[in-house]
Amino acid sequence: MKVIDLRSDTVTRPTAGMMAAMMSAEVGDDVWGDDPTVNRLCAIIAERTGKEAALFLPTGTQSNLAAIMAHCERGDEYIVGQMAHTYRWEGGGAAVLGSVVPQPLEQEADGTIPIAKIASAIKPYGPGLGAHFARSTLLALENTWSGKVLPAAYIAEASAFARSKGLAVHLDGARAFNAAVASNASIADICKPFDSVSLCMSKGLGAPAGALLVGSKALIERAFRWRKVLGGGMRQSGFIGAACLYALDHHVARLADDHDNARLLAEALVKIDGVKITSQATNMVFVELPKAPVARGEETIEAFLKSRGMLMQGVYSTRLVTHHDAMRDDILRFVAAVSEFYSGARS
Ligand SMILES: *Cc1c(COP(=O)(O)O)cnc(C)c1O
Repeated sequence: MKVIDLRSDTVTRPTAGMMAAMMSAEVGDDVWGDDPTVNRLCAIIAERTGKEAALFLPTGTQSNLAAIMAHCERGDEYIVGQMAHTYRWEGGGAAVLGSVVPQPLEQEADGTIPIAKIASAIKPYGPGLGAHFARSTLLALENTWSGKVLPAAYIAEASAFARSKGLAVHLDGARAFNAAVASNASIADICKPFDSVSLCMSKGLGAPAGALLVGSKALIERAFRWRKVLGGGMRQSGFIGAACLYALDHHVARLADDHDNARLLAEALVKIDGVKITSQATNMVFVELPKAPVARGEETIEAFLKSRGMLMQGVYSTRLVTHHDAMRDDILRFVAAVSEFYSGARS
């Protein structure tokens, strides 16, 4: 039985074509900088994102952290959304490992941090009053955020404002390719307002692991050193690099299918009595499901679906994510199973 796993787009497996690319990769020792596949990957992503240089890291978490540590000195602070991944979902790494103070700020429903809030969070620095504070050096945004594409006009305004105050601007672009595809923009357009961008290769792009950090040559040189300190210096990482190159060439345009399938999923689920869709954007659907019908007894929807080879995260309020291992037919089967659960019939 094929498992339909909508917990995340991280569950994607390498395709046959990707495996073949990995098997035939030319490799070297990337800590020495001589893995030809990783070097080609970095050159290609730097060119496509319109940045000077790139660095290949094992995870998006490490990529964001190396970026923050490359931008900030010990005792600096970075301004970030209260629900942003770098702040909330990465174990507090910037503070724990980087000695960088996070200044989280409440976001709007669309993932933006109001510019007035950013303005009032930036601390004075220097002698006198400024001696009291951590130095504000970086603003970090996230795109997509909960699947939503951050408005381009907001990004332009926020990044220009941050820069006018002497802050650098980082993008957690774990799903920046989804933003590009959904808004008919190039990845270079999405990355342009930022000094650095972290891109995940192991989400919808389907590589087994890997993230890419892009930015100026000087920034990437600093991040290269932090990557080693953080334990992310890999040796023959060209085997994974080959999967990422394959993903960049074959799995970007097809993200549109994931977005179509997420729309289909939302449209079909909402037809089930009592189901609420709180948001649907790019490849994510946020859904609130009603409580189980009395006839189901103690059985939860999660357990019911699991017994049918379908996985979701959480129980009644959850996020469903589409990807290349859950295509149209799988989505329709998933919706049929949810519908069956609520029909109350014993199976
Ligand atoms: C997945 C993700 C990351 C990085 O996570 P890893 O699992 O470490 O690769 C960073 N930001 C966002 C928004 C993500 O979804």
